[in-house]
Amino acid sequence: MDIFQNQLMDWYQQHDRPLPWKEEKDPYLIWLSEIILQQTRVAQGLPYFEKFKAHYPDVTSLANAAADEVMKLWEGLGYYSRARNMHATAKYISQDLGGHFPTTYKDILSLKGVGPYTAAAISSFAFGLPHAVVDGNVYRVLARYFGIDTPIDQTPGKKRFAELAQALLDTSQPGRYNQAIMDFGAVQCVPKSPKCTACPLQDCCQAFQEDQIERYPVKSKKLVKKDRFFHFLVFEHEDTTFIQRRESKDIWLHLYQFPLIESDQFIKTFSALQQQSDWPNWIPQPTVGEWSLSKPFKQELTHQRIHAFFFKISLKAAPKSIPTEIVTTERENLTKFAFPKIIDLYLKDNSLYLKLL
Ligand code: SF4
Repeated sequence: MDIFQNQLMDWYQQHDRPLPWKEEKDPYLIWLSEIILQQTRVAQGLPYFEKFKAHYPDVTSLANAAADEVMKLWEGLGYYSRARNMHATAKYISQDLGGHFPTTYKDILSLKGVGPYTAAAISSFAFGLPHAVVDGNVYRVLARYFGIDTPIDQTPGKKRFAELAQALLDTSQPGRYNQAIMDFGAVQCVPKSPKCTACPLQDCCQAFQEDQIERYPVKSKKLVKKDRFFHFLVFEHEDTTFIQRRESKDIWLHLYQFPLIESDQFIKTFSALQQQSDWPNWIPQPTVGEWSLSKPFKQELTHQRIHAFFFKISLKAAPKSIPTEIVTTERENLTKFAFPKIIDLYLKDNSLYLKLL
């Protein structure tokens, strides 16, 4: 145990990555960085952290922000429930806790959107509390170093790794130790092609010694992704177009989209699309003019694969009775709304954003 800890801390002494939230002691900013970095690479998360810190330097300013503004700032980062939970938690801290961030592991863990990993990170970084982080990096490093083949996606494996991680924690400097093991997993013991030949831990690393690096960490289930086909209807009349906020809890809650027809396969012809039962009834068929179809766009989510097709449809006349959930907007104002990444890609590709230049 001590050997691992010493080797790791020696490695960290030489490879400490300077990041803006390291050495930070303000639990609000640490929490912000941890929520942004969940399922996100550091390079991608960094500008978002700077942006949020500049807009909302403390928990009260984030709590008082408009939901649409928070979502717009978050746009492009994915996993949007993080932004919604973060906003709700900021309101809770601001209104119910008098703006004071909780100071114990248990109270931090009870915050919405905060799991054991994030609670351990915040409590060790901000308050020096002895709680070991366990994330994908930690599973990988420990599974390889100790040659553990218990599946990490089942309860016994999770328990075993959590106990081992806690036993390995350097309780005299828990924050620094947690940073070290996360950085080691992110920089040295990376998922594909780890830098074993230049690794100071290789003498004691079981996976390396047995030439079994690819084997670890072990997972029991193979993720099966569901394919979904989204047909977005980009109606245009003169300079205006029509969008709506997603209210279903499915994916992309509270982001904006064009009116959507979803099916379990690609609808190849425009006439077939017009015959779908969920064709918007506020667009009478006689008003439909010329149309064109975009190239396909694809976005991989954790459990699903989204295939998107955009039908740009000009209208001969403005729709007469538009439902309340539909937002009529000038095309050049689309940049003010937060869209899922796949729609952003379409808008950029379609040069609509360029009209602003
Ligand atoms: S030797 Fe390779 S697998 Fe083992 S800890 Fe180092 S980088 Fe990871």
